[in-house]
Amino acid sequence: MKQLTILLSLILLGLTAYSQTVFTKADTLRGSLNENRDWFDVKHYTLHINPNLEAHSLDNSSVSWDCQVLKPHQKIQIDLQQPLIIESIYFSVVTKMNGYYSNKVISKKINFIREGNIAIANIDTLLKKGDYFSISIGYHGKPREAVRPPWDGGWIWKKDSNGKPWVSVACQGLGASVWYPCKDIQSDEPDDGVRIFLKTFEGLESISNGRSVLEGEGANRMGEWIVNSPINNYNVVPYIGDYIHWSEKYKGLKGDLYINYWALREDSAKARKQFTQVPQMIKAFEYWFGPYPFYEDGFQMVQSPHLGMEHQSAIAYGNKFANGYLGRDLSGSGWGLKWDFIIVHESGHEWFANNITSKDIADMWVHEGFTNYSETLFTEFYYGKEAANEYSVGSRRTIRNDKPIIGHYGVNEEGSGDMYAKAGSMIHNIRHAMNNDSLFRSILIGLNKDFYHQTVTTQQIETYISNKSGIDFSKVFDQYLRTIQIPTLAFSYDEKEKILTYQWKNCVTGFDMPLHFNYQGKHFEFLPLDYQPQKRLIKLELFDIKAFAEEIKKQYYVGIIVE
Ligand SMILES: [Zn+2]
Repeated sequence: MKQLTILLSLILLGLTAYSQTVFTKADTLRGSLNENRDWFDVKHYTLHINPNLEAHSLDNSSVSWDCQVLKPHQKIQIDLQQPLIIESIYFSVVTKMNGYYSNKVISKKINFIREGNIAIANIDTLLKKGDYFSISIGYHGKPREAVRPPWDGGWIWKKDSNGKPWVSVACQGLGASVWYPCKDIQSDEPDDGVRIFLKTFEGLESISNGRSVLEGEGANRMGEWIVNSPINNYNVVPYIGDYIHWSEKYKGLKGDLYINYWALREDSAKARKQFTQVPQMIKAFEYWFGPYPFYEDGFQMVQSPHLGMEHQSAIAYGNKFANGYLGRDLSGSGWGLKWDFIIVHESGHEWFANNITSKDIADMWVHEGFTNYSETLFTEFYYGKEAANEYSVGSRRTIRNDKPIIGHYGVNEEGSGDMYAKAGSMIHNIRHAMNNDSLFRSILIGLNKDFYHQTVTTQQIETYISNKSGIDFSKVFDQYLRTIQIPTLAFSYDEKEKILTYQWKNCVTGFDMPLHFNYQGKHFEFLPLDYQPQKRLIKLELFDIKAFAEEIKKQYYVGIIVE
């Protein structure tokens, strides 16, 4: 009976939670850790990629996974999207020595069943917890071509203006399994990184993430790249084209940071000028967020045949070497034209997305909210706090409040696009509510230190911020991340008695965000003494209640009603 009740309530819960969106079995296979996925931890991927530039296919390619057993199981899910074809899967038991994985027993071919965008392979060998094993997947075929990269992604087979091939991949959301076999879920990054062998072509460069094995010699004729840090699958990408390379050594918080730049030969003059913003960006973000998280792998800015993406240690840049977002200021404040949106935003993701990664893409505000706010912080670092406030207020114009920022868990679903500006505005609110900028900055640095190279849940981030600030922000997170209602301060002012009455409306029960702000040279604070719907009164010599309310709106993303 108890089981039946649990079952019934699970069904009911399922019905309410998913009544608006229909998810398929494929969504669940992709978005959750089922029994064929949760028993092992991926430690390292080795990719051998042979793109065929004429046929737009991948020929004779392979990917090896080195993994550790968490609990014994014999079936393994491999994500590889159609129409790519798996030729064979080999299995071997391996040992880890000096950071390398090597075969302990001869590989054997194992059986697998293809089922849509996954394959289930049968390992057929008894493994114990803690054992290491490796599977090597041979595959080929024509990977999905990108329709409108980076949003509607896949492989991009372009030509530069001289008719030379210019090839890359953008696959965030869609998933890296669109072009290589992997465990396609954000919660399992290869802890020891990735090694990429990318086919080389006469007169073209074959670039990927991290460091070239030939670093220091300029051109990379081998196409062999090493990433030492954990990395999101979707961040691993090739760039093939007629690239010019230059580099510099940046003196950063953790010592020498090797910065490599790659631009098409035809654009190299414009790129050399625009990319001078890269060290400026590193300087500002190391101030706000702490050391760049991937010193071992270096930093690269690579011109891409699409607008841009946060590809770890190989940021994709396609913003046409102009300031703003394709020459426009998304905030409308004017400050967005002072710097290159793609250099700032995509690199900001090195801290929030690449260093700190959400386990489930439903929590992607952790990537986009903080990175959206990194734009405000970059503006503040170079142009001051007033400019930063103006930028932040301006960026609110893209907020839609269409659906909650947090999506459904376990089905590979992102929430609302409000994960950018609205989550960024929520962070702006929290900062002002703390009323202590050095504490706020130490929390940003602390997040990057305490969750260094980790995957996280929204709950971990929310709890961390509340604990470190000493303010319980749980209702603020609930309000902004889980509802579409904007909390509204209702004011009324009694001219005769000089008494201001205020009350939170349109908010979750218990919402009581502290408000600190300056008005006409005076500091005001509305502190959480009790909960709505109680009204609070303060005695105040006020002349212009409307101007007073407007001032609050400049510092907080809230609604205001003057009654
Ligand atoms: Zn972003």
